[in-house]
Amino acid sequence: MSDKPNLVVLTGAGISAESGLSTFRDNNGLWNEYSVYEVATPEAWQQNPELVLEFYNQRRREVRQAQPNAAHQAISDAEADFEVTVVTQNVDNLHERAGSSQVLHVHGLITLARSSINEQVFELHDKDIQLGDHCPAGSQLRPHVVWFGEMVYHMDAAAQAISKADYLLVIGTSLSVFPAAGLVDEAPVEAHKALINKEADNVPPGFEVFQGSAAQLTPQILQAYPKQT
Ligand code: NAD
Repeated sequence: MSDKPNLVVLTGAGISAESGLSTFRDNNGLWNEYSVYEVATPEAWQQNPELVLEFYNQRRREVRQAQPNAAHQAISDAEADFEVTVVTQNVDNLHERAGSSQVLHVHGLITLARSSINEQVFELHDKDIQLGDHCPAGSQLRPHVVWFGEMVYHMDAAAQAISKADYLLVIGTSLSVFPAAGLVDEAPVEAHKALINKEADNVPPGFEVFQGSAAQLTPQILQAYPKQT
């Protein structure tokens, strides 16, 4: 067992904004261009799978082009001094590409495809998913992302990690998508809790707020956390 303090970082779309990936709810966010009902629900998948695949193929191409920013990097670097668990609502792989070793993707991972009849997932490498691409069991492949109304992943592991946190740092999320947003309630009362966000309109009780850019603030805040000597 490590005697490093436990740091859990809960991230949302805002941490990847400075890597060039659109958030959903900001001005210019993705939902201004697309209706959630057209692209991110099981009903949309039933009704217009081609549009849904194209939407996520486009997002996946953007993810491949994007690079981790200073916030992703600082979280990875913190593994030198903390036992770090990243719980992310993001479907991009920028935490992994920055070097983080424990990342729980509660809403899935866009670089993977999934069977539409079972939980088997497949690495897409540089490929898109097309209509007619099948899993070995013969069903159409779909993006490995959680759509509205579907079960989220890793909630038990995420809740457990947060319940043991000495530090909980929440970055770039409107905390409006449940059940992921409710994970903040799992933190022990005595844990140090902080939120880095461009807007500070949804601050859970007991959180210190740092309003501004994730890429600028995350390295500074993590540096300031006391290290064990
Ligand atoms: P959200 O769009 O609801 O909220 C993003 C938050 O980030 C906002 O509160 C905004 O003020 C803040 N923000 C924007 N730019 C910032 C910056 N540079 N620095 C700090 N904060 C910044 O996103 P959410 O809370 O993650 O929920 C939306 C859902 O959308 C998630 O569940 C996720 O699955 C999905 N999503 C993922 C990606 C991705 O993987 N990169 C992108 C868009 C949406």
